[in-house]
Amino acid sequence: MNSDCHQTITLAQQFWQHPTGKPHEHDHMPQVDICENLHRLRENLHQCEQRAARPPASTKLIAVSKTKPLAMVQRALECGQSDFGESYAQEFEHKAQSLAEAPITWHFIGPIQSNKTRIIATWADWVHSIDRLKLARRLSAQRDPNAPPLNVCIQVNIDHEPSKAGVELNEVTHLAREIAAMDQLRLRGLMCLPRPRKDPQAQREPFERLRQALDQLNAQGFQLDTLSMGMSRDYCAAILEGATVVRIGTAIFGARQ
Ligand SMILES: *Cc1c(COP(=O)(O)O)cnc(C)c1O
Repeated sequence: MNSDCHQTITLAQQFWQHPTGKPHEHDHMPQVDICENLHRLRENLHQCEQRAARPPASTKLIAVSKTKPLAMVQRALECGQSDFGESYAQEFEHKAQSLAEAPITWHFIGPIQSNKTRIIATWADWVHSIDRLKLARRLSAQRDPNAPPLNVCIQVNIDHEPSKAGVELNEVTHLAREIAAMDQLRLRGLMCLPRPRKDPQAQREPFERLRQALDQLNAQGFQLDTLSMGMSRDYCAAILEGATVVRIGTAIFGARQ
């Protein structure tokens, strides 16, 4: 099963390269068969769900389109994908504006600079990368009161990596309480980006700790339904540990530059 997961990535990377090795004439739209990749990925997700004894399609798939052209988002949309993830505020604004009429649920998943919160408050349906009270306050204040509340997840630095964003597990409850009291935000759960482990079994451990943290919050009275965890290389491990949302880019759109 884990080899299937890896196979998806390999295939996606093969599709990314033009068969002749030369750049394609329309290099704004590289030779990636997005529909095929999505189809294969959904099959692999179903297999992971089955292994986890969970119903098929119970994991929400976010197609992470950061750095990829608008045409690739449109193609994925045509192939039935509706949730998209972006990491860079300006690129996100451009795509969301261009596709304002499309039936897309937009997820902002990248590091947030405070001077970009207005863009995110305006265009996002979800934000997965909240790790500071100040950001949450700004997003809540800048969200149009007539719009539905912004769905948010707290990002946890599950492996205590200095290079990564996110709060430590012992800070989660405090931030969660503050966010839960904000009018224009709706706290949905937790997100993490663990350090890669070589062994797929060992990869489950950080995801397990995030799930336990969510369970603890719910035991304290929160009603959180979202565990945003798992990317191209580790989504099976995440699903086995209860991911409700996976964020996958490379296996759909090919490697990024
Ligand atoms: C880029 C990114 C992803 C997707 O990573 P892939 O390895 O391309 O699947 C997922 N989550 C976050 C937060 C990201 O920044």
